[in-house]
Amino acid sequence: MALIAIAQNRRMSDYLESVRRAGGEPIEVAAGGELPQHLLARVDGIMLTGGGDIDPMLYGEPPHAECQAAEADRDAFETALTRAAIAANIPYFAICRGMQLLNVAMGGTLIQDIPSQVPGALEHSVPEPRAHVVHEVWIAKDSRLSALLADHMEDGETCHVNSRHHQSVARVAPGFDVTATSPDGVIEAMEKPGAAFCIGVQWHPENFWRTGEFRSLFEGFVQAANARKR
Ligand code: MN
Repeated sequence: MALIAIAQNRRMSDYLESVRRAGGEPIEVAAGGELPQHLLARVDGIMLTGGGDIDPMLYGEPPHAECQAAEADRDAFETALTRAAIAANIPYFAICRGMQLLNVAMGGTLIQDIPSQVPGALEHSVPEPRAHVVHEVWIAKDSRLSALLADHMEDGETCHVNSRHHQSVARVAPGFDVTATSPDGVIEAMEKPGAAFCIGVQWHPENFWRTGEFRSLFEGFVQAANARKR
């Protein structure tokens, strides 16, 4: 069974359940525990999770008034884990803050506060109910994401997603493609073409494990991790 390291946050149950239902064995990892290089020698996949804002100094910007205080240890641990996983082409799946961390770790930047920095933005911060759809996203044709969500899209390109974020990707990191946007232009997914599996999504697919709308994302990720397994 593929061993999946999941970056710890304050509310883990839906991430753990989603990975288990896709056939993976999750372990929680965090700063202060096993070092990234040791973890990567024994796990088959890496998953990054939701959480607070990333320190904007990591992408060379002063903090916006609405940017929350950063967790320096978590930022540093997840940045090291991400860079090492991508260098080694280990299957990697990043959700919400995880996608933002992926983008910053690989050289991109963030919008620090959508409501004050994106004119005409939709509402992207709807905390409850967690598995309630908030807005649509348009998935890029010919992307890995599009292939994984083939049975769940309308018109071959539209998905409805939940949304609990006030930041988003601004300039996408070199070597990555934007693979989903919402109708206001906010970036909602990215991936590294040619990788074993390297996808970030801005929404929270893990909240839908009861009804299974995004099960194919977790299954694709765990399959890639199994394929890599020694
Ligand atoms: Mn959104």
